[in-house]
Amino acid sequence: MAELIDGKQLAKTVNAQTKRAVTELKTRGVNPKLIVILVGEDKASQIYVRNKQRKAVQLGIISETTRLPEDVSQAELLKLIDQYNHDDTVNGVMVQSPLPRQIDEAAVTRAILPTKDVDGFNPENVGQLYSNSNLNFPVSCTPKGIMSMLKAYQVTLAGANAVIVGRSNIVGRPMAALLLNASATVTVVHSQTKDMRAYTRNADILIVATGIAHLIKGEDIKPGATVIDVGMNRDENGKLTGDVDFDSAEPVAGKITPVPGGVGPMTIATLMQQTVELTKWSE
Ligand code: NDP
Repeated sequence: MAELIDGKQLAKTVNAQTKRAVTELKTRGVNPKLIVILVGEDKASQIYVRNKQRKAVQLGIISETTRLPEDVSQAELLKLIDQYNHDDTVNGVMVQSPLPRQIDEAAVTRAILPTKDVDGFNPENVGQLYSNSNLNFPVSCTPKGIMSMLKAYQVTLAGANAVIVGRSNIVGRPMAALLLNASATVTVVHSQTKDMRAYTRNADILIVATGIAHLIKGEDIKPGATVIDVGMNRDENGKLTGDVDFDSAEPVAGKITPVPGGVGPMTIATLMQQTVELTKWSE
């Protein structure tokens, strides 16, 4: 039986710390403020944005959601970002993805000021991460939250064989950099990898972020491994399931995250934590 990595509980602890930090900042007249820009009517995005807004309010962070129509031009979106970049009352800015076709997502990530880039996607911040900089800079919230989980559950990183399934800019790549910076031996596998399971079976730490339900099964996991499931997939009944087949993986793994209640809550908690960090770093 694997130990369950309880992301929900850990998120409560992180949120309590964030709330205390916000209270402390407010006593000094500093009010952390997060701007979320939502383009179009994507249903899932609307839910994510609402959850972020609700959590921010609970923690005392000022949160504004700016809604733009589906057919907004790139120039208009970039102009809005520029306004927030120049607004001294704003500490964090993020644009919810996916974005409509006419918008160049890379141009949007470049436009957000690195010091307000609460998602950590700006190439300058990605460069800080990949060069293992000792400066303060924001990092993509999902992998940063996973690092908090690994730390809280005392998973040894130095020298561990860490395998990441998926190489997205949001999860796989920043996760690889964070683990490498923590002295793990890192392998990233993806859809073009030959015999992916030969790698996963050798992983002390296995992080799965593909968006393919139940891609990883118990037989693909090294006995005793720490398994982090980032996937958020809906099955035919609309139930949330991960990229890992929990039922077959749980008896093999040493530690494992559930879906839901694992990585998801920690991502939002880390976003709030990072909003406060950006606020402090800008003082
Ligand atoms: P992307 O679609 O951007 O990336 C998926 C990655 O998985 C790609 O690198 C792809 O490889 C790889 N992949 C696809 N199929 C296979 C396969 N058969 N074998 C090995 N690798 C494969 O997804 P994201 O990283 O954005 O998200 C991944 C999952 O995590 C999704 O379910 C998403 O909803 C979830 N997620 C959850 C978050 C949370 O807070 N819990 C936050 C962010 C994401 P290639 O590059 O070759 O195409």
